[in-house]
Amino acid sequence: MEKIKMTTPLVEMDGDEMTRILWKIIKDELLHPFIDLKTEYYDLGLAYRNETDDQVTIDSAEATKKYGVAVKCATITPNAARVSEYSLKEMWKSPNGTIRAILDGTVFRTPIKVKGIEPCVSNWEQPITIARHAYGDVYKNVEIKIPEAGKAELVYTAKDGSQIKETIFDFEGPGIIQGQHNTVKSIESFARSCFTYALDQKQELWFATKDTISKKYDHTFKDIFQEIFDKEYKEKFEAAGITYFYTLIDDAVARVMKSKGGFIWACKNYDGDVMSDMISSAFGSLAMMTSVLVSPEGYYEYEAAHGTVQRHYYKHLNGEETSTNSVATIFAWTGALRKRGELDSLPELMTFADNLEKACVDTIESGRMTKDLALITQIENPTVLNSEDFIKEIRKSLEKVYA
Ligand code: NAP
Ligand code: MG
Repeated sequence: MEKIKMTTPLVEMDGDEMTRILWKIIKDELLHPFIDLKTEYYDLGLAYRNETDDQVTIDSAEATKKYGVAVKCATITPNAARVSEYSLKEMWKSPNGTIRAILDGTVFRTPIKVKGIEPCVSNWEQPITIARHAYGDVYKNVEIKIPEAGKAELVYTAKDGSQIKETIFDFEGPGIIQGQHNTVKSIESFARSCFTYALDQKQELWFATKDTISKKYDHTFKDIFQEIFDKEYKEKFEAAGITYFYTLIDDAVARVMKSKGGFIWACKNYDGDVMSDMISSAFGSLAMMTSVLVSPEGYYEYEAAHGTVQRHYYKHLNGEETSTNSVATIFAWTGALRKRGELDSLPELMTFADNLEKACVDTIESGRMTKDLALITQIENPTVLNSEDFIKEIRKSLEKVYA
């Protein structure tokens, strides 16, 4: 077979530990044999981040702005243990945080559905994508423990010294208070990323807050979404045959449970934190969850939702066999290749992405899978494969398509 051509490189962000091992096998077994793969390579492995004082992470994010599409391997976020393990010059920041700050994006997480790994909620026929706002609210709060009776106030002082003041509470005894904030700029970026991604996926977008109780804070989120939708996206949504739907968060939760799935659910920061864990565990496995960072300008960075699978990596280093699931990492590649194909009008590349995803799904549905899935599948007597053999089985399924 003649290899599929690419015209623009993908920004390739290599990573750490077990996922770095999988990364190479995926490229060798599933990509290079089929595609004339063009990438601009950035090594985000911790050793090289340390060597470049983390400049490589910044460069990779800038390259994503230049080319529009990136694919990222899971990376270590350093903590004290990692500083000594890798003799780091300093405790470098989370690469995902750095990239997100540069691209100003929102992360969308979607479960990969296969027959035999059924969601706990039986009416969920399609995946549910969670979009979590990644700035502010309780994650950037200030809190005070009130020791005894006294008045707590909320004060804003403008540059000219003028003030807006509200009484929070007149305490008669000890208590607690909390101050939260968000910015119009960040909420606007969040809204645009959500609308952009809904159009991209041709899926309905839901958004929910508690605006009936939080009449200024949450209501501002609601208003910003509605204004941006009406001004910039309404006609595009109509043309795509999709809708934007706002409701109260408790109503949204009830509707999600009764739904068939197949939509994007935009959540404020805390709601997204909690709901994404509910959705991902209800759908089965973190190893079957993809993640894409979408900037308001429409730059895309695809990755797996899980980490570097450290425990398996240490087994691997010990010469023991591992059974690490590569599906979410493969889907990061297919997501990026499909998007590249779409932007560059390369239908063959888009079809390849579809075929590779189907090869993954077919392999699992035929009973060949990694250990994490074998533990939860409804398929009887599954064949448990090691990390490399699982990818080789996917290759066999893919080769059948191109035979
Ligand atoms: P993890 O890599 O997500 O793995 C946690 C556990 O989940 C694993 O030990 C394994 O369970 C299971 N698991 C996750 N992915 C799997 C897969 N593909 N196949 C099979 N099992 C899988 O989280 P972690 O071990 O807490 O974190 C390791 C490193 O990843 C940390 O340094 C963290 O900073 C980093 N991290 C990076 C990202 C990112 O780059 N986006 C995200 C999260 C964490 P068993 O051990 O029971 O088999
Ligand atoms: Mg969480």
